[in-house]
Amino acid sequence: MDGPPAFLLSIDGAGVAAASDFPVIDPATGEPFARAPDATEAHLNQAVAAARRAFANWRDTDSDGRREAMKGFAAAIRAEREPLAALLTREQGKPLAAARREVEAAAERIAGMAALDIGGGYLREGPSGPVRLDYVPMGVVGVIAPWNAPLILAMQMVAQALAAGNAVVVKPSPFTPLSTLRLGEIAARTLPPGLVNTLSGGNDLGQWMTGHPGIDKIAFVGSTATGKKVMAAAADSLKRVSLELGGNDAAIVLDDADLDAVAPRLFASAFINSGQICMAVKRVFAQAPIADALAEALAVLARKARVGGGFDPDVELGPVQNQPQFTKVMALIQDARDRGGRFLAGGMAFDRPGYFIAPTIVTGLREGTRLVDEEQFGPVLPILSFDSDDEAVMRANATRFGLGASVWSGDQARAEALARRLEAGTVWINAHGGAAPDLPFGGFKESGIGRGMGVAGLRSYAEIRVMHGAGGA
Ligand code: NAD
Repeated sequence: MDGPPAFLLSIDGAGVAAASDFPVIDPATGEPFARAPDATEAHLNQAVAAARRAFANWRDTDSDGRREAMKGFAAAIRAEREPLAALLTREQGKPLAAARREVEAAAERIAGMAALDIGGGYLREGPSGPVRLDYVPMGVVGVIAPWNAPLILAMQMVAQALAAGNAVVVKPSPFTPLSTLRLGEIAARTLPPGLVNTLSGGNDLGQWMTGHPGIDKIAFVGSTATGKKVMAAAADSLKRVSLELGGNDAAIVLDDADLDAVAPRLFASAFINSGQICMAVKRVFAQAPIADALAEALAVLARKARVGGGFDPDVELGPVQNQPQFTKVMALIQDARDRGGRFLAGGMAFDRPGYFIAPTIVTGLREGTRLVDEEQFGPVLPILSFDSDDEAVMRANATRFGLGASVWSGDQARAEALARRLEAGTVWINAHGGAAPDLPFGGFKESGIGRGMGVAGLRSYAEIRVMHGAGGA
């Protein structure tokens, strides 16, 4: 089998081979192209011990020292952008240009988190002298990442953990382990040994992490179903958890919106990464007078979108990342068809190897259909019609998810009034999607616990310690 050079686990600053490995599939062909090491529980124990040793020094490194080291790590990632992006496209499926942006964004997350100030300091005078508050690192953070944007998501958790003074053990998804293992090698070269340990393996490795007594916090990005298992497992030791989970984002398009301007932006916000983004638009609520025109405008864009392998420079949308997700999305399409959905574009897989689904626009559905109620996480978008503003808000909020939402309108005051009533961690007006290191990101309801990024995110990787009689500011 042709493929890149062998991949190793990174433990205590060194590459470590595993006795067994597992195949990694190219989603554009459906065929394996490389193998990833399958870490054992013994590897996890070694990684946690190494992280614990590294933590002892990193905890006492001042914020300037941490900042410099993290900036060096980010620069080393940028310097390897091309091979990292190519590997990411191969294992994840996204177009190469998007993979390049992801590598840049992963580096930016690290540099951006390093630049934030976690705060703390003098509070007030108390009975025994000055009282101060400090954000104290927790120890070892276990980072568990999904397959849709493996590098950005793993690195934003790693960055927060490091910036707050912790050491980490990182586990990428078994569907996309390779580019993260390469980042692990870069971390091993540029950061103190053991500060970032990278282990690939199956879901059992994730379970060992959530149960490990040497791990103080689990930072998790993935599905709501797995997030609940992580939280249940963490309860035993009261491990801290950050959970960034699924979404079913609504975009509300009002009857005064400029459809020529809205349609392309909405399409991009829904079909980015072939719909496999937590904060992609997953339900469009279009006001009745413009609903048909908007659906048709989106369908035109869907029919025109160029779908194919990520190395083809003309391609805009890659495959769905893996076989189980492909099967799930196809089942949602079938369910929509069985329930009277009208397919204005797509509605089928391409007749070729790999996990390619035609960008799909469906109308004629209501709540109670799987495509509306569940997170599709694929290139399929339902357009639902509504009458009043109140109805739109009520239906947008009638979900167990609460990650993102948007309102699209030519009337700023009307849009803002609606936006303020949406139950979501991020709300956009005339836009949808995007995250930045300084902005807290996360979900209401079953879209997560806590917020990642921003000072709020950074603080969730620390304990608060209040000290009385601290002897000065
Ligand atoms: P997933 O939940 O299947 O897997 C995520 C990670 O958890 C993987 O590394 C997996 O190996 C690991 N895992 C599986 N079972 C485990 C267990 N019992 N204990 C510990 N770890 C376990 O998610 P996925 O399919 O890889 O990712 C897609 C999901 O991620 C979507 O729902 C998407 O919305 C969500 N997501 C959320 C955000 C966000 O910021 N809110 C960002 C990206 C993706």
